[in-house]
Amino acid sequence: MSGTLYIVATPIGNLEDMTYRAVRILGQVDLIAAEDTRHSLKLLNHFGISKPLTSYFDHNQQLKGERILHALRQGKSVALISDAGTPCVSDPGFNLVRDAVAEGIPVMAVPGPCAAIAALSGSGLPSDTFTFAGFPPSRQGRRRTFLANMVNLPGTLMLYEAPHRLADTLRDIHEVMGDRQIVLARELTKIYEEFIRGSVSGVMTAVARGKVRGEVVILIAAGETGQTETEPLDVVLESLLADGNLSIKDAARKASEITGSSRSESYAEALRLRNSAVQE
Ligand code: SAM
Repeated sequence: MSGTLYIVATPIGNLEDMTYRAVRILGQVDLIAAEDTRHSLKLLNHFGISKPLTSYFDHNQQLKGERILHALRQGKSVALISDAGTPCVSDPGFNLVRDAVAEGIPVMAVPGPCAAIAALSGSGLPSDTFTFAGFPPSRQGRRRTFLANMVNLPGTLMLYEAPHRLADTLRDIHEVMGDRQIVLARELTKIYEEFIRGSVSGVMTAVARGKVRGEVVILIAAGETGQTETEPLDVVLESLLADGNLSIKDAARKASEITGSSRSESYAEALRLRNSAVQE
């Protein structure tokens, strides 16, 4: 009989958010796999949990994943935790869970804090339909394409972002998606917790003044009905063509889906943009 793999959520800042069940399960398993063992040791010490620890992070996933699966096959129970929040949500874990599921190893999720869900619940933006898209790409061209692909999504869009990229990402949101309503959920559950609400341009001003520090979730309200008409075809095409990953044909097809323009119009505009870029 194989052991169970527990995916255990831990606090995103406030230790009072640790669940009773998380403490019990971490205290019962044979092995805890942690993203950063030194970081997690502080959490485990706080709750008086003393268990064998092993690291499981992005760059050792293959090797460590195999060792963890081996322990599970031998009947040992393993808990996976990340530095903060829910493992597998923009954190390591997916590969391990996928492989455990493929082998028929029992997997149990032990829910708890997650920055995206906490941000959504306190944002005041519609929460009936939402998309969580993780971290935007760090390169500008890819980031713009990534945003352009989501211009027409229904509901609230949620992104994670590193503090040093926040200003650049807000600028691209403004250019690609327009001056929508957004919320920055900052330092959730911590002393300087704050929800900053406003138009993208207003929030950009606050960020430029250096007023937004620390960890942040970006929540973007859906575009107005007819957003496609206010988002010009050439802006969408420029974003899609920016990093050179898409052919003219593919960019034109995508832009026509996003904007509602006809494929022929989109293709003609893509050619015009490409030709004017070559002449510059
Ligand atoms: N797995 C985690 C979860 O469930 O929320 C997320 C891990 S991801 C590597 C880290 C990102 O989550 C940060 O860059 C930030 O965007 C967001 N985040 C984490 N803690 C946060 C907090 N206390 N307040 C706001 N955002 C937070």
